[in-house]
Amino acid sequence: METLEDLFEETLKDVYFAEKAIIKALPKMAKKTKSLELRAAFQEHVEQTKGQVERLDQVFKLLGKKSQGKECPALKGLVEETEELMSEAKSPEVMHAGLIGCAQAVEHYEIARYGTLVAWAEELDMPEAVELLQATLEEEKMTDEKLSQLASSINREAGMAEGKHGEEESKSKGKSGAAAKNAQSKKSSAQPSRKK
Ligand code: FE
Ligand code: FE
Ligand code: FE
Repeated sequence: METLEDLFEETLKDVYFAEKAIIKALPKMAKKTKSLELRAAFQEHVEQTKGQVERLDQVFKLLGKKSQGKECPALKGLVEETEELMSEAKSPEVMHAGLIGCAQAVEHYEIARYGTLVAWAEELDMPEAVELLQATLEEEKMTDEKLSQLASSINREAGMAEGKHGEEESKSKGKSGAAAKNAQSKKSSAQPSRKK
């Protein structure tokens, strides 16, 4: 790797691998969610991602190169974390909140990569590549934004489910129940996601 163009090409391979892995991972995530809205968001992003792969094909073509992926250990790690969550989340509420967190980690990786690729394409004076990569960057940002919006209600449900457990516990303990429930809801309102 000697030139900025080499670096650009290597990073294109990195995101190419990442997008292909995401196309495989998102349907598994959609299957694990009982929230119709969240499932629709994952399914929609699978379709969007297929279009992003096509844009990368075009960028490779502009470089005069064949489309090719190169293993991205970062994305592989994020997919592993998601699989861990999917096997460990014990309630749908926790699953949903966790899946959004994992999906946003992936979007942020993509936003970082595409942001860099856009800057390098500008530097390499490849306006068509800039346009293609910028279009994908915007989609990733919008997806991240949409997930943040979904998180505000889904995190609350996960927090409320926690309150519910407190209530169940407290029923068997008699009068102290109300206090226990209050403590739980106070605790959940302190979740970082609520701070805006
Ligand atoms: Fe993508
Ligand atoms: Fe990577
Ligand atoms: Fe994405």
